[in-house]
Amino acid sequence: MKNCLACRSVHVQQKSSILARLFFSIYMLLAVYFFTGELGFGALIVFIPLVIPYMHTCSDCHRSFFRMPGVKLNSFWVGNHLEKYLLALLPSILTITLLILNFPNTGLGRIVYLPGIFCINSLIIVIYVYQSEQLKKALKLFLGVMVLISTIVLSILTYPQEYGENVWELIWTINN
Ligand SMILES: [Zn+2]
Repeated sequence: MKNCLACRSVHVQQKSSILARLFFSIYMLLAVYFFTGELGFGALIVFIPLVIPYMHTCSDCHRSFFRMPGVKLNSFWVGNHLEKYLLALLPSILTITLLILNFPNTGLGRIVYLPGIFCINSLIIVIYVYQSEQLKKALKLFLGVMVLISTIVLSILTYPQEYGENVWELIWTINN
């Protein structure tokens, strides 16, 4: 059942990827943990989007329909902006996860920090994803690395601590 449901054409494209939904589910799961400090079975709700049928479009008759993806590489990665954005968020989200696990005394600062840093990092990444399309490969790669490093550094620099310590100095002290 890989053909178009209307015209039987084999030129059917999946419009959203499994990986994009997987990233989304994991980020939601982490958000639940960051805000509540615990993960119950109820949190598994975040994985429901993975099994909702995926949009496909036929390039011959241009009709769209929903069905489950096949097991092939381009079901996982279709190459759209959303995927690139979700993938680029990964380094900063891992950084924030490590910070929260190691320095949990954020006090109420966490409530401002989490949405704030998420918006700032998202903005930087979205601008990069849309503006870098026309660039030469080497420059695109260089800027991409710079973007990822900035999101990590910003996540560390703005990380709140209840007793006013600077988390940058705390990391330095632990490592020396
Ligand atoms: Zn068709």
